Amino acid sequence: MKTYRKELWFNILTRRAFINITPDIQNCIDDSGITEGLVLINAMHITASVFINDDEAGLHHDYDLWLEKLAPHEPVSQYRHNVGEDNADAHMKRQIMGRESVVAITEGRLDFGTWEQIFYGEFDGRRKKRVLVKIIGE
Ligand code: ZN
Repeated sequence: MKTYRKELWFNILTRRAFINITPDIQNCIDDSGITEGLVLINAMHITASVFINDDEAGLHHDYDLWLEKLAPHEPVSQYRHNVGEDNADAHMKRQIMGRESVVAITEGRLDFGTWEQIFYGEFDGRRKKRVLVKIIGE
């Protein structure tokens, strides 16, 4: 069995964003030489997510509004976590959007359902953060 590990770094200039990282993950698979296996992609920060869904701008706008209804950023004083920081909402947004995704690799390609794409979800940006890519297989 072969293994491969890589960290992808992000420095998002806004507080929140959704970034399609599918091409980066396919590049990792190509680099690994693994054609049959699994790829795990996880955010290495507790205020960011990796998730799979549609690359559709309206949906991403809807996610942002929905997450703001569930866990509004303001007023920051409503959260007990926000003593000396202001990112309690980002922890909650990450919780609901998830930590990681796992995708099958078949014949060297991401074995997706129709419209599936992999996203990095940032909820407390404006600093460097990373995503782990771990691939196992043959
Ligand atoms: Zn925090």
